[in-house]
Amino acid sequence: MIRVGVNGYGTIGRRVADAVLMQKDMELVGVTKVHPDYRVETAIKKGIDVYAANEKALQSFRNSGYNVKGVLDDLLKRVDVIVDCSPEGNGPQNKLIYEASKVRAIFQGGEDHELTGLSFVAQCNYDNARGKNMVRVVSCNTTALCRILNSLSNNFGIYRARAVLARRAADPDETGKGPIDAVVLDPATVPSHHGPDVQSVMGNIDVVTMAFKVPTTHMHLHSLIVSLKKKATREEVIEALQKEPRTMLVESKLGFKSTSSIVDMARELSSPRNDIHEAVVWKDSVSTVENEVYMFMAVHQEAIVVPENVDAIRAITASATKEESMSMTDSSLGIRKF
Ligand code: NAD
Repeated sequence: MIRVGVNGYGTIGRRVADAVLMQKDMELVGVTKVHPDYRVETAIKKGIDVYAANEKALQSFRNSGYNVKGVLDDLLKRVDVIVDCSPEGNGPQNKLIYEASKVRAIFQGGEDHELTGLSFVAQCNYDNARGKNMVRVVSCNTTALCRILNSLSNNFGIYRARAVLARRAADPDETGKGPIDAVVLDPATVPSHHGPDVQSVMGNIDVVTMAFKVPTTHMHLHSLIVSLKKKATREEVIEALQKEPRTMLVESKLGFKSTSSIVDMARELSSPRNDIHEAVVWKDSVSTVENEVYMFMAVHQEAIVVPENVDAIRAITASATKEESMSMTDSSLGIRKF
């Protein structure tokens, strides 16, 4: 059993913790919390051991009457791998703590590539992470772009890729964030950071991205235009996407008219937290003109990186091959083909 801890129990940390609990080759040793709020209660109700993220947090837990299992250092003594799900920017200081404890670590996409030198998307570069001490699972948008571009690159070759990202403004519980009534350029300059981030996984692929924020909380929407090296029909592109792991095709004629329909489908399927781990491409948007292919893709920002974190745990502990790990992860999380 791989002993796993999760440092930071927010949007991503809670999902990674639940996913680890579902793996037959992993044990969730515990999670850290900063604030003694209702999420401590829900963790305890699930049988998850809670640790204080630091000494100050320990004091506020004690003042609130919570008997936590210790602090982060105690958790680190009991794990093989720590998954850092603390807010972006904490990486550099936490890396020093993990190194001192000689614990392997996985960071999230809010950190810079340089923090670990290895940015991870399972189907693109699982083997590069095997046996490494630290890797960074890339952001939600980068993960989705890498899945699609990996498919197109392997099947047809990519001359260049261009993507415009309409980003959800905030996660559902981030009530202090806007905008409420505006579309915000994020940033106005080109490129946005997502293109270079794809290159941190896929190497010298020619990819340029632009991004803006829209007043929604549940999904991002990408518009992609990709020039292929080998001319392909629409049907050939669809077939390639259908074969790509963790990619789902939906059609507007079946009622998938917006990101809301996709969330509704997840609700109907009783997916935990309405999570959608797949990159969701509208089949009817896939079009080809000469060597160019066009498509719309939706990305559930809270969920898409969860399977990548599970695979990253197996990769850095060298405990399974890419195929074994992705298969175990997909079947445990119920990853769908629609
Ligand atoms: P979040 O704010 O929802 O959760 C972070 C949690 O860490 C909170 O519970 C917070 O109280 C806790 N925390 C604060 N300081 C801490 C510390 N010093 N040590 C331990 N825990 C601490 O954040 P999130 O959205 O889960 O993001 C975590 C990481 O995942 C970031 O790098 C982010 O960029 C990345 N990410 C987020 C999303 C998303 O859509 N939310 C998607 C992909 C990747």
